[in-house]
Amino acid sequence: MDIHEHQAKDILAKFGVPVPKGDVAFTPEQASFFARQVGDGSCVVKAQIYSGGRGEAGGVKVCNNETEVREFAGSLLGTNLITKQTDANGKRIDRLWIEEVSDIDRELYLGFVLDRKTERIMIVASGHGGMEIEDLAEEDPDSLIRMIIDPAVGLAEYQARELAFKLGLQGTQIGEMVTVLTACYRAYRDLDAMMVEINPLVVRSDGSMVALDAKMSFDQNALFRRSEIAALRDPGQEDPRESFAADHGLAYVGLDGDIGCIINGAGLAMATMDMIQLSGGEPANFLDIGGGASPERVCQAFRTVLSDANVSVILVNIFAGINRCDWIANGVVQAYKEVGIELPVIVRLSGTNVEAGQKIITDSGLPIISANTLAEAANAAVSARPKSIAAE
Ligand code: GDP
Ligand code: MN
Repeated sequence: MDIHEHQAKDILAKFGVPVPKGDVAFTPEQASFFARQVGDGSCVVKAQIYSGGRGEAGGVKVCNNETEVREFAGSLLGTNLITKQTDANGKRIDRLWIEEVSDIDRELYLGFVLDRKTERIMIVASGHGGMEIEDLAEEDPDSLIRMIIDPAVGLAEYQARELAFKLGLQGTQIGEMVTVLTACYRAYRDLDAMMVEINPLVVRSDGSMVALDAKMSFDQNALFRRSEIAALRDPGQEDPRESFAADHGLAYVGLDGDIGCIINGAGLAMATMDMIQLSGGEPANFLDIGGGASPERVCQAFRTVLSDANVSVILVNIFAGINRCDWIANGVVQAYKEVGIELPVIVRLSGTNVEAGQKIITDSGLPIISANTLAEAANAAVSARPKSIAAE
């Protein structure tokens, strides 16, 4: 789960990372109110969206006075910002971060990520900050410094100092860098983060260090024990289909095809998507309804899949272990009544209570196509598509 820059700065500041003074603004008036507090009214106005590359896209501006702040804030709020990292629609700007201006001497890159190879937290740093890490890796790979942290020891001070030296920091900056690194490491570890990125981490002209940008993302599977982090979620920044699904306990990922999938188990979902492609079709989504799916959850799954206008046929593939085929079948029948399905539906049931499930489908008299095997189901879904799509 991602959070906003201002939230990441708040968290990191609590752990000891120096950040510029700032405030959140939801209206141009709130933005100019903050500008009035900082002497001459000059401040940086930053769009808060779940994406980097905002600077290049026109979502960050150093403003000279209160009027400029209000005008720029007004021009951003309510619009969509399209960056290199967003899709063509961009992300809606609902809030801004207004911050005191920093006089930049040096821009550094600092990231904490999970290194899957060593199964440890890894620091990635570069003396060449400000660029996105992907560009940095391509244009100046030699500048990247990597450091693995031993979980039994934690981030050792000598490691932090070594990194500061490698970045060419001097004097009091070495101590400041050690503070920043230690704070980021603790925040990462204590909050079940997946990523902490400060880009740029700057040395100001007075020699002090400050996090000018901050990004954090968290392990979805640990949110149950991090309620304070879970509460930061901003559904306005998520794909509406994916947040609708998440709210109903469904794992959903939107894709580009037209065959809507309702499946139990991530492995079976992947296998079904492969079978669809082998049969010459394209899946519209990944959807795992999970174990013990009630008829209500099946209905929500239909609603989720149907919210994608590209879907032309729906394939339900259930191997019931913890699930029960009769519950799923009841859910499919209920979905016909409640959701109003007009597309072809293919159902393949297998496992617990399969006879009862099939009987419910047959007795319903609904135009549901039944299939016995996965291959049969995938073929049936591909053949059931409207001719115009199949011809593409
Ligand atoms: P991103 O483009 O989404 O990564 O947003 P950033 O927060 O990194 O801001 C983009 C760029 O704006 C930074 O790399 C800086 O060059 C510039 N910027 C942001 N805040 C300040 C500031 O206080 N002073 C100056 N001079 N530049 C700033
Ligand atoms: Mn940045």
